[in-house]
Amino acid sequence: MAVEHKTNVRVLMFPYLAYGHITPFFELAKKLSDKGFSIDLCSTPINLSLIKKKITQKYSCSIHLVEFHLPNLPELPPHYHTTNGLPIHLQSTLYKAITMSKPQFYEILKDQKPNVLVHDVMQPWAARVASSLNIPSIKFCLTSITMCCYFGHFFLKPGLEFPFPALYLKDYEREITRPYDVEVKEELGENRAIMLVNSSRAIDGKYMDYLSEIGKTEILPTGVVIQDIAINEEEMEIIKWLGNKKENSTVYVSFGSENFLTKEEMEEVAYGLELSNVHFIWVVRFPKEEQVVSLEHVLPQGFLKRNIGEKGRIIECWAPQTTILKHPSIGAFLTHCGWNSTLEAIEFGVPIIALPMNFYSDQPLNARLIVENGVAIEMARDGNGKIHRGNVAEIIKDVIFGEKKIGEDLRRKVKGLCENIKLLREEEMDEVVMVLKQICEKNQSKMDD
Ligand code: UDP
Repeated sequence: MAVEHKTNVRVLMFPYLAYGHITPFFELAKKLSDKGFSIDLCSTPINLSLIKKKITQKYSCSIHLVEFHLPNLPELPPHYHTTNGLPIHLQSTLYKAITMSKPQFYEILKDQKPNVLVHDVMQPWAARVASSLNIPSIKFCLTSITMCCYFGHFFLKPGLEFPFPALYLKDYEREITRPYDVEVKEELGENRAIMLVNSSRAIDGKYMDYLSEIGKTEILPTGVVIQDIAINEEEMEIIKWLGNKKENSTVYVSFGSENFLTKEEMEEVAYGLELSNVHFIWVVRFPKEEQVVSLEHVLPQGFLKRNIGEKGRIIECWAPQTTILKHPSIGAFLTHCGWNSTLEAIEFGVPIIALPMNFYSDQPLNARLIVENGVAIEMARDGNGKIHRGNVAEIIKDVIFGEKKIGEDLRRKVKGLCENIKLLREEEMDEVVMVLKQICEKNQSKMDD
């Protein structure tokens, strides 16, 4: 379907304060801007400072940054106005600060007067603020739809078995209390609504259909938006190092922007990598307040000496992930299955070794979904959910050395899935554009009446 590229629609976007949320919002902003929309992207200054660097000349007139200020709480200085690297004990304080800032968001909307608000599904209150100003809104979900689908089923069809056995939770995952349960219920219980989701029907179309069928929400995939490849001068060294490795020979290990491994997990992953004898790049992170701690303190004694150099590399805190994943030497991605990381692996055709870390998040169900798609293999944990070095080493060897053809099979399937996503991408985005325009037109005629 051809979509006209001229529009006077102004969209205000309001992502949750997490790197993994702001980035896909920004990528969606670019896609909508390509279709003629004008975008205000609203977040805290610390988050906007990351985005500012990414706005190229092409988007400088169509994407504007709007600062959202949190109150001055002594325990939450401005560099903690983001979930990226936020110490765990400050997470509830950040949440409290966001809640306290609702009046500020009201003022922003009143000031900017957008035609439509696109807000994070994790901030349903933003839609109510918009509605009080007669501004229509649409939510954007940055996880796979499997989580809404799974929990939505038990909320809307109590007592009935979930009809898709590929999606399930393990005992140690089920026992966790989920802070977002209330929000999922609130979202699904609303009047008929539309929800954008950063995905493609090629990945989880049947779950989109099921959720639309049982809930009151129509799911609209944006066609997979991932962050652009970007690399700075300092980061070039790692790419040169990768350039000396054979094709598909190296495992990339990263657990996202928010997770910190426990000392025990750190040791198991370290020894697992060492035992596997596979080339690796491992992104090791600590909470910001612990930056003074050095790598020697968190890794097993002698690990750096024995493994860093030709065999492996450790990157502290932050890696140019998309650039690394795109490199032909990368043969597997050991990931926590954050949704962005999952999509990036699929986009670049990299087989996934799934190791969900946050059992209360979407990660466990994302892992089951990509195993079902044939693009991932999940690492075993013991009955208490603990990681063991033997399993880490075994699975990495299986995928990289490919004696059981596991890596080859995963690679073929992930490339196939990537092709299918590409085939649907334009069409899915065009539908999003059409729906956004319709929402604005409908609201305008309501106001004119
Ligand atoms: N990321 C990165 N470098 C890092 C760690 C993460 O560029 O060292 C990016 C990654 O490419 C992805 C995002 O941060 O786009 C992480 O999002 P995801 O949903 O995978 O996990 P989260 O951080 O939300 O747990």
